[in-house]
Amino acid sequence: MTDKQTPNRHISPQRKSEDRGLDGLIRPQRLAEFTGQEKLKTNLTILIEAAKAREEPLDHVLFHGPPGLGKTTLAHVVANEMNVNIRITAGPAIERAGDLAAILTNMRAGDILFIDEVHRLGRAVEEILYPAMEDFVLDIVVGKGPGAKNVRLKLPKFTVVGATTRLALLTAPLRARFGAVYRMDFYEEPAIEAIVNRGASLLAVACDPAGAKEIARRSRGTPRVALRLLRRVRDYVQVRAEGEITGETAVAALNLMEIDNLGLDDLDRRVLRAIIEKFGGGPVGLDTIAASISEEADTIMDVVEPYLLQLGFLERTARGRMATPHAYQHLGIALPGRKTDNNKPNQPTLFGDNEPS
Ligand code: ADP
Repeated sequence: MTDKQTPNRHISPQRKSEDRGLDGLIRPQRLAEFTGQEKLKTNLTILIEAAKAREEPLDHVLFHGPPGLGKTTLAHVVANEMNVNIRITAGPAIERAGDLAAILTNMRAGDILFIDEVHRLGRAVEEILYPAMEDFVLDIVVGKGPGAKNVRLKLPKFTVVGATTRLALLTAPLRARFGAVYRMDFYEEPAIEAIVNRGASLLAVACDPAGAKEIARRSRGTPRVALRLLRRVRDYVQVRAEGEITGETAVAALNLMEIDNLGLDDLDRRVLRAIIEKFGGGPVGLDTIAASISEEADTIMDVVEPYLLQLGFLERTARGRMATPHAYQHLGIALPGRKTDNNKPNQPTLFGDNEPS
């Protein structure tokens, strides 16, 4: 995924070209090196060990959650733990059924096919994938016109590891073919701190505990953001300080990037301000918000919204998004009078029921 509208956004969890070199260097290779996501790791370890004990290929696995949390990394980790090859592709890259057939016929038993953005597979491609995942067969049509014949090819038993930021967009039959579905959550701050420290040592930059804490605090629970901020802070201390990341230098660098103490940047603030100032706090539809600030609805949905929901700054209602009192407070905007979402009589009022009217 790339940032179309906000190419200079430091805190975008979406992958940028500048991350590539670093990804290779920092990406954990084994489950033991993979920090955080403890529950998921436990379940994944059981899945892997059971498959290995039975000498069977791993069941198809789906990781879902916001970008930058480690879905691709885990796919590589799974391949390493299973000691198999991994082939990497993405939903939009497989344009025709023939493209997928070509990939599948080159797989070996046990190999992993990693499909990023698996919700973006075309219908014709999906139709080929269903029997391939379920029965390890490839149904293809040979020839054209009245002489065309259906041919069924046997495939080796392989594993699909899928990743998606939008579980809801996955078709039901495709979702049903994944035996193990894991949700990835934002990381706790200590886990991000550990990732920052590991990154700093791999990048050979001195970073004291206060510095790592500051970076972690503003990384919105996302390893990719943490590592990107680490690099920007490293640049800063190289030019403006003695080359060491401390609490003070990290704060100075992050403030210069206009990333606030909760990790919100200009885009997050624009979204919240639009809801509050242009739409009276909501409810307002996502497309309307996006149009009002000239951003893509997809970017807001994938990148901005999950973190604002997690912070409790945003609420999703049947009629659209609403800013919560926490959002007003954070932006330093006074709360207006009592307001209710009229269509939902049983919903609590926007500012809680204890508010004087
Ligand atoms: P996703 O596929 O979910 O968008 P990636 O797997 O590409 O995310 O991870 C983004 C970056 O964060 C990579 O550089 C990766 O090395 C790093 N990363 C992700 N999860 C972890 C983790 N648990 N520990 C250390 N680094 C991580």
